[in-house]
Amino acid sequence: MQLASTIGLEIHVELKTKTKMFCGCLNDSNEKHPNINVCPICMGHPGTLPVINKEAVKSVLKMGMALGGKIASRSQFDRKNYFYPDLPKGYQISQYKYPLVEGGELNGIRIRRIHLEEDTGRLLHQGEESLVDFNRAGVPLMEIVTEPDISSGESARDFAEELQLILRYLDISSGDMEKGAMRCEVNISLNMGIKVEIKNLNSFRAVEKSINYEIERQTGILEKGDKVGHETRGWDEDGGKTFSQRKKEEAHDYRYFPEPDLPALNLAMLDLGGFAIPELPSQKRERFKKEFNLKDEQIEILVRDKQLSDFFENAVSEFKEAGLPLGSPASKSVELIFNYLTSDLIGLMNSKYLGWDELRVSPHAFGELMAMISKKEIFSRAAKNVLKKMIETGREPNVIVKEEGLEQTSDESFIETAAQKIISLNHNAVSDYKKGKEEALQFLIGRVMRETKGKTNPAALKEILKKNIYPVRSSAERQDFKNG
Ligand code: ADP
Ligand code: MG
Ligand code: ZN
Repeated sequence: MQLASTIGLEIHVELKTKTKMFCGCLNDSNEKHPNINVCPICMGHPGTLPVINKEAVKSVLKMGMALGGKIASRSQFDRKNYFYPDLPKGYQISQYKYPLVEGGELNGIRIRRIHLEEDTGRLLHQGEESLVDFNRAGVPLMEIVTEPDISSGESARDFAEELQLILRYLDISSGDMEKGAMRCEVNISLNMGIKVEIKNLNSFRAVEKSINYEIERQTGILEKGDKVGHETRGWDEDGGKTFSQRKKEEAHDYRYFPEPDLPALNLAMLDLGGFAIPELPSQKRERFKKEFNLKDEQIEILVRDKQLSDFFENAVSEFKEAGLPLGSPASKSVELIFNYLTSDLIGLMNSKYLGWDELRVSPHAFGELMAMISKKEIFSRAAKNVLKKMIETGREPNVIVKEEGLEQTSDESFIETAAQKIISLNHNAVSDYKKGKEEALQFLIGRVMRETKGKTNPAALKEILKKNIYPVRSSAERQDFKNG
């Protein structure tokens, strides 16, 4: 039985402001020592007063604009009252009636609202004891609520992935799900029935899998003629299933009321034109398609990583600056840069555990290296060695090429010396080649390339190797041979 599934998401995002939402404490998710970034305000001491963090408000407004939402002309904070050990004040400052943003859309899914609140502390359960770390208490938290427009686990995942990308492009949050900087809650119902909430999903995979599991589970219940219970469920990653956490017999009463210690925000006067919204992922996809003529999968690899795509673009313009045309055949040069970047440079970075911030190769230097390959000043084999040296030393490619003597060469006597050395050291390969094994020749070519650090012209090398394996005798020699 195929039942219609209705899914809505509630996504919490930790904003990466310098300080917390209502006090001057550092907002540092990397702080390892507990209860360092705390003060009387975020600890909820009596007599303290909160102050609104402007950067956090700006971040939410940027997100609202990026998703095409309507910025409220008047917004207000409310108190959401409940007791829990990670909530020192006994209430959370949130937004209920007057969120900062209403409406908007992403991937065809309508956004209901985006509001701003504060995060709670963190509980740590150790054996008999529970510990609490308040470093996270009061960190700005943006909540994005969708309309129930989603109908499958896959499209929920796509939505969440695109949302994370936008957070990163706007540079308002790391969006790292495994670190809890972006947390998804799924609401799901079948055939207009009771909706179940799934909490604590900390990976895209968990979002998709938990929905698929819930669709099956609820279908099973409905098929038997039973009713789906109104409850909150958790996700068991190892077991690959959801489990009941708490039954929702009646709605919580949070006794929301306007936060008396904070002024309402009058946003009607705000000049939104002053908000620099950068190019968004969807716009970049279109532009890259037009400008670079790459395949969709290639564009996606670039767009998914903002630093990678910035590097790529800058390298391409350096390449053009070196006086090389990208056009005709356009894709050749662009693909050369794309391939070197996504396989060689990224490969080397991964093997050395280097992040973009630690990379000593500038797009300028990288673009120059690509230009040297294009102009056939060096061969691709040598280029790989140069790139490695560039990463290790941070020096310009032309300096490395000169120092290491890696300019390509077709100089016959140079190649011949190397070829003869390799032939004399590899009798087996030579005799295999004589027996007709083509791979043996490739092996010998590889050995000479290594011997000469890749600077040998491969076409010339092939001819010289063959000539030295099957020496063509001069006519005088042939004459001697006959006579002898
Ligand atoms: P609640 O008041 O129970 O939190 P809301 O109406 O505020 O419910 O919606 C919370 C989330 O649940 C939203 O993301 C919304 O899209 C989603 N949602 C609402 N109704 C349904 C439904 N019938 N099935 C699945 N999700 C739903
Ligand atoms: Mg809810
Ligand atoms: Zn504080």
